[in-house]
Amino acid sequence: MDDLRELYQEVILDHNKNPKNYHELDSPSHTAEGYNPLCGDRINLYLIVENDIITDISFQGSGCAISKSSASLMTTELKGKTITEARDLFHSFQRMITNKSDFEEDFNTIGKLAVFAGIREYPVRIKCAGLAWHTVFSALENGDVVSTE
Ligand code: ZN
Repeated sequence: MDDLRELYQEVILDHNKNPKNYHELDSPSHTAEGYNPLCGDRINLYLIVENDIITDISFQGSGCAISKSSASLMTTELKGKTITEARDLFHSFQRMITNKSDFEEDFNTIGKLAVFAGIREYPVRIKCAGLAWHTVFSALENGDVVSTE
């Protein structure tokens, strides 16, 4: 378990140092800004959704290693997924980090996001890990649509 924990930590630190999809999108269909006052994490999310599929997603922001690496991994997982698949993944992720999951049951869905399983031991970090996800769904649900004209 210690080896596994170390490996997970390495993945998190690597995504913090070299975040994926870390840029603005030219003509996003949806954007939102997220803020976690508990830690000071800020994130800007950019999405292109076509026919209910997230065809592109990116982010920028500043914050702790957990918030940044969670956003980075999230973008790699959500690209190409339907909104429904994204929502299912979010629910599994939330159950995992708040320790409400039957982890075995969710494990197949959760994939690489399992590196954040240890967060449940640090309740104050749950909001850091969840920030990017909440921002995506606020962009999608509140219809915070950027005009492309
Ligand atoms: Zn944070």
